Amino acid sequence: MANLISLDSIKPVARAETMREALESGGCSSASCGSSDGPADMDPAVWAKVKDHPCYSEEAHHYFARMHVAVAPACNIQCNYCNRKYDCANESRPGVVSEKLTPEQAMRKVIAVANEVPQLSVLGIAGPGDACYDWRKTKATFDQIAQQIPDIKLCLSTNGLALPEHVDEIARMNIDHVTITINMIDPEIGAKIYPWIFHNHRRYEGVEASQILHERQMLGLEMLAARNILVKVNSVMIPGVNDQHLLEVNRVVKAKGAFLHNIMPLISDPAHGTHYGLTGQRGPRALELKALQDRLADGTKLMRHCRQCRADAVGLLGEDRGQEFNLDLLPEEVAYDPSKRDAYREIVAVELGEHQTHKKGAEAGLAAVDAAPAVLVAIATKGGGRINQHFGHASEFQVFEASPEGISFVGHRKVDQYCQGGWGEDATLEGMIAALEGIDVVLCAKIGDCPKDSLAAAGIAVSDAWPHAWIESGIAAWYLATYRAELRLSA
Ligand code: SF4
Ligand code: SF4
Repeated sequence: MANLISLDSIKPVARAETMREALESGGCSSASCGSSDGPADMDPAVWAKVKDHPCYSEEAHHYFARMHVAVAPACNIQCNYCNRKYDCANESRPGVVSEKLTPEQAMRKVIAVANEVPQLSVLGIAGPGDACYDWRKTKATFDQIAQQIPDIKLCLSTNGLALPEHVDEIARMNIDHVTITINMIDPEIGAKIYPWIFHNHRRYEGVEASQILHERQMLGLEMLAARNILVKVNSVMIPGVNDQHLLEVNRVVKAKGAFLHNIMPLISDPAHGTHYGLTGQRGPRALELKALQDRLADGTKLMRHCRQCRADAVGLLGEDRGQEFNLDLLPEEVAYDPSKRDAYREIVAVELGEHQTHKKGAEAGLAAVDAAPAVLVAIATKGGGRINQHFGHASEFQVFEASPEGISFVGHRKVDQYCQGGWGEDATLEGMIAALEGIDVVLCAKIGDCPKDSLAAAGIAVSDAWPHAWIESGIAAWYLATYRAELRLSA
């Protein structure tokens, strides 16, 4: 097992001074807060629930980690994008797990992770299967964890069919976060997504099945919202099936009290053995997903940083350390030790304050530039809110939109790692360039001349001038250096 208190990634670095000078010389002054919701934007009770939840707060996802335990494998519906038989250590997508656990095994694993991963703040049950349908195992797991690690947030995901019958118990168990996957509000569209459901000891098919599912989802959502439980709605964007319809879904779920809406791209491949995979239904391209998200009116309530994690994922979003904690690697007896998590939280509290200050400074710098374009910036980061990863080591890039209006997180792009065993892979580079479609500039801690030239040839600028700077500070420095110079030239 790795040595885990990865505090290095969040230590202030000397280079930040250089950044501050660059920004100050760019004319920064105080300005309003960044684009992510923060304590100034919401009710304190809600802020307390989201501030260290990596999925409910964009900012928290730079610092805090989640883990999923696959304890509830039974499901009461069939989705055309799911194949619950799939079991692979190398696949990263919802529903995929390496091992299913009993509640007791889950307990052992959660304690082992909590002892070793200081960023851990959330435990979720998110498939394969349905946490509400397989309720006995879900409840047994959460009851044990809540007793042993009372400060961990409990989170569950459900298709919503069996949700209404468990809402009161969910509230009693202090489960503050529930995700419902809602892909339609029109059962005619639902019939293209769900071939059948199993409800009240009966199997239903077609439009009738989707009508029942829709009614139960809406009822469950309203019941949770009435009890102040934060609801995230996940919707799978399926081009040609529900992509345009999701605008209406967004309107309705927000009106019924959803806290966040997370539009996720369909993942579809014949090798996965799903109905959509086998029938050639494609998923959306990154820019199609962004275009849909941009059309949704209230951007502040949109989750854009979802990584579509495995159902047994462990770690910060975008990384998966699950294989380090397989049951056969864990001791039979393990006692909870909160010391690493406690120490980490103290450091993060300080770090977050510093990050906020730099974010404001960065945005003030951008606001001073007139008539410059909105650009998409891809960041190589290992977490901690900094530009701290070599280009060749990145398996994803976080994408930010920057303009004089501010800097906002708009998504991520998954890529195959360019650097393999010390050498760059040309074949991989081609895939990376394709995945970076529409990106104006990549900022990373370091990059070699060869990939830099290939990116430049594809029209993507790259810079490693701000290693370990805060992400927003690096973006602002690049933006000011680029557009200030251009504006001076054209003046
Ligand atoms: S609800 Fe979840 S587990 Fe059930 S079929 Fe759909 S994706 Fe698969
Ligand atoms: S799948 Fe999305 S919402 Fe769920 S844990 Fe991963 S990032 Fe969070």
